[in-house]
Amino acid sequence: MTHISTDLTTAYAELVARGLSLDLTRGKPSPSQLDLSNAMLGLPGDGDYRDAAGTDLRNYGGPDGLPELRAIMGELLGIPTDQLLALDTTSLPLMHEVLVAALLTGVPHGDGPWRNVEGVSFLCPVPGYDRHFAICEALGIRMIAVPFTDTGLDLDTIRSLVANDPSIRGMWTVPMYSNPTGYSLTVEEVEALVAMPTAADDFRIMWDNAYAVHHLTDDPDPVIDVLGLAAAAGHPDRPIVFASTSKVTFAGGGVGFVGGSPANIAWIRKHWSARTIGPDKLNQLRHVRFFGDAAGVVAHMAKHRALLEPQFEAVLQILEERLRGVASWTRPRGGYFISLDAGDGVATRAIALAKEAGILVTAAGAPFPYGDDPRDSTIRLAPSFPSLDELRAGIDGLCTCVLLAQQERAAAAE
Ligand code: PMP
Repeated sequence: MTHISTDLTTAYAELVARGLSLDLTRGKPSPSQLDLSNAMLGLPGDGDYRDAAGTDLRNYGGPDGLPELRAIMGELLGIPTDQLLALDTTSLPLMHEVLVAALLTGVPHGDGPWRNVEGVSFLCPVPGYDRHFAICEALGIRMIAVPFTDTGLDLDTIRSLVANDPSIRGMWTVPMYSNPTGYSLTVEEVEALVAMPTAADDFRIMWDNAYAVHHLTDDPDPVIDVLGLAAAAGHPDRPIVFASTSKVTFAGGGVGFVGGSPANIAWIRKHWSARTIGPDKLNQLRHVRFFGDAAGVVAHMAKHRALLEPQFEAVLQILEERLRGVASWTRPRGGYFISLDAGDGVATRAIALAKEAGILVTAAGAPFPYGDDPRDSTIRLAPSFPSLDELRAGIDGLCTCVLLAQQERAAAAE
């Protein structure tokens, strides 16, 4: 008979007695990371309000966003300036808008509004980003979870689903350093996604490249030219690319970008122009002045890396010390998250035990559509925000909770 070890029960009692109050729930930049962009608060500065063409940016107009900034981001994302719009201060509203427009009016070269499609659905590789799933849920798009395999996307399942079911109109992807696994798609996977036959001619890939420049190694994963590959495969309109500076400069106060084929861009421009007369171009100018050029963004991201790397290392080291052999986790090369596989039926209980001990982590199930983690095993860890000491205490405490939950489950199974 399995017993819950007294050592573990004592360790948990001690943890609760410490009365911690730690929040490890969301992948926010830390105050020190935000400090890296403080110089921007004084930009563009008194009297600096014209772009390179001499346009007065204090006024309405310029609906596509500042060309200089789109050129900088375009260079980093591998997208021509005229196929990349800088429309908002973040990217999630752009994703939401694209799906609203698709539902209400249909996409270019499609067969009409998606709202007319019985059971309109999206594929969702899991674990994935909860806010993508929240958009689908809010708009009534059915979600079909497709778990990652040990080696990457489950292409066989994806191919067979999209080939046979015309109600599947799209899929979510975070192509680099994905939230929460840290996984980056390979060129072969991207080629397969843009080339695969789909029962719906207007199938779209929501290509959320939120972490394109957020490397944690000297040997960055490449930005794959998804628009070029899609055009070469005869499906130029399939990907719609999103990105933002939320985790580059100020979260919520940066710039959101959307890129795509000329047809998709014309369609997005038309919808967005019904919504606004133009974006905050002074904020965009502030970003241009702050970065200078694409190399300036890369140099700035190296400073983020210097702050983030010790946080990730601390988490990985504690996981290694405490959970080796009894759980598994991802070792991301960039991005903001580590995904912990705590074992079947363990996540909800471990997270509840952690909460009792004053350690808040992302809710169990959050990285899955409808909050449903069928194995109840995934815990998303967000190392960026807490101080190093708080992070160590929080992750160490969480490991105690995972071990206790595993033992409780083993004992209950006998
Ligand atoms: N996409 C992904 C994959 C993210 O992880 C995040 C932030 N957590 C966002 C988008 C949010 O981006 P934004 O602030 O530009 O809306």
